[in-house]
Amino acid sequence: MVSAYDLPADQLYIAGEWRQGRGAPIRSHFPADGTLNRTLHGASVEDVDLAIDRAQSAVNDPAWRGLRPHERAGYLYRISNGISEAVERIAFVQSRDTGKTIAETRALAMSAAGTFRYMAAALETMEDTLTPPRGDYLTFSVHEPLGVTAGITPWNSPIASDAQKVAPALAAGNAILLKPASWSPLVCLELARIIEAAGLPKGLFSTLPGAGSIVGERLVTHAAIRKVSFTGGTEVGRGIARKAAEKFMAVSLELGGKSPTIVFADADLDLAVAGVMFGVFSSTGQSCIAGSRLFVQRRVYDAFTAKLIAATKRLRVGHSFKAGTQVAPLIHADHRAEVEDHVRRALAEGAELLTGGGRPTGEEYDAGTYYLPTILAGVSNTARICRDEVFGPVLVVLPFDDEADVIAQANDNEYGLACGIYTADFTRAWRVGRAIEAGTVWINTYKQFSIATPFGGVKESGLGREKGREGIRAWMSQKSIYLDMSQRPHPWAADCLKEDGA
Ligand code: NDP
Repeated sequence: MVSAYDLPADQLYIAGEWRQGRGAPIRSHFPADGTLNRTLHGASVEDVDLAIDRAQSAVNDPAWRGLRPHERAGYLYRISNGISEAVERIAFVQSRDTGKTIAETRALAMSAAGTFRYMAAALETMEDTLTPPRGDYLTFSVHEPLGVTAGITPWNSPIASDAQKVAPALAAGNAILLKPASWSPLVCLELARIIEAAGLPKGLFSTLPGAGSIVGERLVTHAAIRKVSFTGGTEVGRGIARKAAEKFMAVSLELGGKSPTIVFADADLDLAVAGVMFGVFSSTGQSCIAGSRLFVQRRVYDAFTAKLIAATKRLRVGHSFKAGTQVAPLIHADHRAEVEDHVRRALAEGAELLTGGGRPTGEEYDAGTYYLPTILAGVSNTARICRDEVFGPVLVVLPFDDEADVIAQANDNEYGLACGIYTADFTRAWRVGRAIEAGTVWINTYKQFSIATPFGGVKESGLGREKGREGIRAWMSQKSIYLDMSQRPHPWAADCLKEDGA
């Protein structure tokens, strides 16, 4: 049973105050039926500048700067508790904003609470190091905040990706300004309400919904912003990296993917079918790590594909709030049109449609942005459908002969985010897993996550890692300190101190 909550008002949390943004209006719609959730006034460039200005004061204020790690951690624990207490409300708002199933948005809210809790605990237990001296001095390596930072997030899992930026940024002692995607502007306002209630000093956190080309651009190029952590598409990420290079700013880039899933003939086929389906069709395929290229060993190709098609046809496509829905609507009509274009092009390229390939029919689907789970085959790994990230429920299946063949095909792609391997042979799983160019490899499972385990991509899938203890360090600047223990003038100049030259 899903309760209805009020959606956040048309107010942004900027520099510690709630007020209407001075930028262009953003319209958030409920993808399951197209109704308008809220028209929200986005942030303007002046709003961004104001948020940066206040953040600079707040981050340098001894009330924040002077806190010890365990004291900073106290804020993160309170934010974590606030999220845990508001899971139902956050899930509701996020499902209305994105169309995701309520089961998934509950899980995302709980994962956000876990992220703040983990980062608080990690912060309390982090140690600076005393490095081996090469003289009569002590050498320390300490970590300090970067200053004012920014997080730019996409629409597919907002509360979780927001938390992955805000929690380590604050843990590291920074201020952070958060810009969510324009299609999902609401849930960050819930996070702001919780952060405010946790008593975080004003100015350290602001929410700045607004167009990427205006608000995002200003955050990236403003001289005072010392780091941008971006999750989104590869082309936008490339532009941000270029601008960051101009001002020598730290960036972390979590970008797109076209991840391979590999099924060897010796795999438990039921386990593999379920894993493949979850890997590509959960979140309606709107996932950077979607296992969207499936390689099946030729010996079991026909049997496996038949099982997969039958099971895929049984997936429950439905309303975000309906119990049991597995495949909810896509985020937006424009996005569904893009998914449809990808499939149309693939068919024109000669792909064979094994299932799906269109919108579901029936009254319950008419007003929403639904699309059927789709499986394509009959193309080679060089076809566009095997190269382009679809970001929808579209899988392409390809056969392979042996280990060498599948490693070559899997790596023959611009992206390198994730990979799934299904086999009963653990030595092979290890070998192939090590040979695949990806930031994450799952063996006999897929899309499992832990905040304690670093995440990121290689090649066009990005730069840097989030999560894990080191995830906090990525928001800090390292400083080396040499402390003289000799209490004698340096021998190089000691002679010069003697006035008579003796
Ligand atoms: P976009 O790259 O279009 O947008 C991501 C964010 O960047 C949005 O907040 C967007 O704002 C903003 N943005 C757009 N243009 C600029 C700009 N010039 N300067 C600064 N910010 C800008 O991606 P999508 O929102 O469409 O998200 C889908 C993409 O995200 C996919 O490619 C997916 O693979 C990737 N992704 C990667 C993940 C990972 O961890 N590797 C995880 C999740 C998604 P606005 O909405 O206003 O345009």
